[in-house]
Amino acid sequence: MTSVQTQTVARPPKIGGAMPVDSPVIITIDGPAGTGKSTVAQLLAARLGLDFLDTGAMYRAAAAILIDREIDREEIGELVSAVLGADLHFDWSQDPPTILAWDNPIDHRIRQADVTAVVSFVASIADLRHHMVRKQRVIGSQHPRLVTEGRDQGSVVFPDAAVKFYLDANPEVRAQRRVEQLAKKGDVVDIQEMCERIVERDRMDSTRSDGPLMCPDDAIRIDTSVLSLDQVVDTLEQHARDRIAMMLDGS
Ligand code: C5P
Repeated sequence: MTSVQTQTVARPPKIGGAMPVDSPVIITIDGPAGTGKSTVAQLLAARLGLDFLDTGAMYRAAAAILIDREIDREEIGELVSAVLGADLHFDWSQDPPTILAWDNPIDHRIRQADVTAVVSFVASIADLRHHMVRKQRVIGSQHPRLVTEGRDQGSVVFPDAAVKFYLDANPEVRAQRRVEQLAKKGDVVDIQEMCERIVERDRMDSTRSDGPLMCPDDAIRIDTSVLSLDQVVDTLEQHARDRIAMMLDGS
């Protein structure tokens, strides 16, 4: 499914489809790097008339702060204070919403290679995660019709979410997707090296003690390895609509 990539997605108007317009609906999508969660979440949100939250952007912003403020990796307290002071928040007037630190947009920074290289370390800091979890729950209360994607959205942040998905794909496929994505931006990365980086990020994300990457018991697990982007989004949309219809029926 080489077409599943992080990108700005042309979105149809938020008409809500068959979804009841006023009901709160939180849909979580978790999974490892390179499964296309971000693109899939944006498209699903657009189809269902929901808002979209990229929680990876928040951890990436914290990693960018670590690097750009030249904070020593050992100085956890200093990093957490800086991230709190940055008051990370999204500009919801943008589609997809963009992230700001100290009121400055930082989207251009957070996907750069040096940030990606340290983000899993930053995301393993318990105090920082507690802060992010609190912020994400506040966002959930302000945007109660939400598709949110990350690593711990269904397991920790929104355990009562209406629908939970876990996207997976084999590491070679995920590495191939990332390499193609970077190639479009003119960056050439060896596929074997990318695969090793992805496996290492998965290892760090799934072995940390706080909010590890995991498939919640009540999540719908989908292997995207051999599916096209449309097939993945169609599958999630169908599951989401079925589950929500069942909930509204009280069955
Ligand atoms: O999804 P993305 O690749 O942008 O996430 C970057 C990193 O942020 C992940 O590898 C993970 O370490 C961290 N993350 C997290 N919890 C989330 C979202 C992202 O730990 N909910």
